[in-house]
Amino acid sequence: MIEIKDKRNCCGCTACSQVCPKRCISMQEDAEGFKYPKVDSDLCNNCGLCEKVCPYLNSYPIPAEKPASYACKTKDDSLRAKSSSGGLFTVLATRIIQDGGVVFGAKFDDGWNVVHGYAESVEGLSAFRGSKYVQSELGDSLNQVKEFLKDGRKVMFTGTPCQVAGLNHFLQKEYDGLVTVDFVCHCVPSPLVWKNYLEELRGDGIIKSVSFRDKSEGWAKFGLAVTGETAVLAKGNHHDNIYMKAFLSNLIVRPGCTNCPARFYKSGADITIADCWGFNEYHPELNDDKGMSLALLLSGKGAALYHEVESQMDSLQIPYIEVQEESNHNPIIRSPKFHRYRNHFFNEIIKGEKGTIELLEKYIKKGENRKKRVNSAKAVVRGLLGNKLIDKLRGR
Ligand SMILES: Cc1cc2nc3c(=O)[nH]c(=O)nc-3n(C[C@H](O)[C@H](O)[C@H](O)COP(=O)(O)OP(=O)(O)OC[C@H]3O[C@@H](n4cnc5c(N)ncnc54)[C@H](O)[C@@H]3O)c2cc1C
Ligand code: SF4
Ligand code: SF4
Ligand code: SF4
Repeated sequence: MIEIKDKRNCCGCTACSQVCPKRCISMQEDAEGFKYPKVDSDLCNNCGLCEKVCPYLNSYPIPAEKPASYACKTKDDSLRAKSSSGGLFTVLATRIIQDGGVVFGAKFDDGWNVVHGYAESVEGLSAFRGSKYVQSELGDSLNQVKEFLKDGRKVMFTGTPCQVAGLNHFLQKEYDGLVTVDFVCHCVPSPLVWKNYLEELRGDGIIKSVSFRDKSEGWAKFGLAVTGETAVLAKGNHHDNIYMKAFLSNLIVRPGCTNCPARFYKSGADITIADCWGFNEYHPELNDDKGMSLALLLSGKGAALYHEVESQMDSLQIPYIEVQEESNHNPIIRSPKFHRYRNHFFNEIIKGEKGTIELLEKYIKKGENRKKRVNSAKAVVRGLLGNKLIDKLRGR
């Protein structure tokens, strides 16, 4: 049976808990706000299924061939404005719905927690649109996917690569009706930190809207915008909003993300989507700073779906080398490292003596100050030794 001895070996995909025939695995939240499986050993019959479906114990191989890669954006500008990058998710999902299918994705619930759900109408897709930089709660989604597939419905499941890997292992067989779409995934932050952050922002008021990908300063300078009933509670691009800084610098990351089981297309997804950041460098004349998606086609099924909807987008096939060389796509191949003060931050959160925003600011600043000190020390050493000698010592 599954036992989590090291939290770096669990992404919380729920495959073990949802596959268990005795229903004796519950997902329990730890003090940092991340969920992990816990087995009721009195009920367990040692069938071993939970271990068979865990992405950390059963990794898919890295595909032998590089995926066909496309830069694309929907021709519908209002849809693109509401999407994180070029609106590819909605274009693909709309096709599935028009074929009578069901689409799974991550949305906000009534309390602004991020949860997975499904939609059977085009209108229902709007809740999934836009990235939410918080780990989503999967609930019973994997079993729901299986039920729809058994009923002969088409299903498009979207989620993090590890959620897609968990689903594929959980199903234990291929279904013609299933298309899985994941994204290049930096990491997921703690739902507890997100909840605390919002509670402190809203005080006694209510939250009216949240966008993690506010494009008012442009796509490249995207940021978090939170509005209350009468005022804007937070607005700032990812370089100056404290929550976005904490996400991008790995201060609030799930431990399992530092040991991601699904990087390098190991999720078994049919299509991987992302921001096509490299576009500006390679095709600056075509970049309008309103959002460009990257589509990486990983299976025949994924390629067929993409080409069915391609005429609804401006789409350009790009050489894989452009994806590979684009430094912002490092998350395809590399797991993030903990922020130097990540554990200090969570220890203080657990103590509960200080507010979350105060602690985010404290540790982000501490990290930035340390970086400045290290950089100026490096500059002094460079000045003393000279660049040539340093390069020689490094063997360049
Ligand atoms: C946590 C996270 C980290 C990411 N890291 C990167 C990165 O490092 N580099 C990069 O290029 N792109 C990253 N992305 C993807 C990027 O932000 C866009 O989602 C992607 O480019 C698709 O944009 P779109 O315009 O096609 O669709 P959108 O309309 O923005 O599509 C949203 C899609 O993302 C899903 N989704 C949203 N939030 C979550 C969540 N919390 N958990 C699971 N699924 C979710 C929805 O279900 C939907 O399928 C990340 C996304 C998330 C959620
Ligand atoms: S070994 Fe079987 S019964 Fe026991 S927890 Fe795992 S799946 Fe459930
Ligand atoms: S990674 Fe998924 S399957 Fe493995 S232990 Fe964690 S929740 Fe269970
Ligand atoms: S980085 Fe890997 S482990 Fe973390 S959420 Fe993304 S896919 Fe899952």
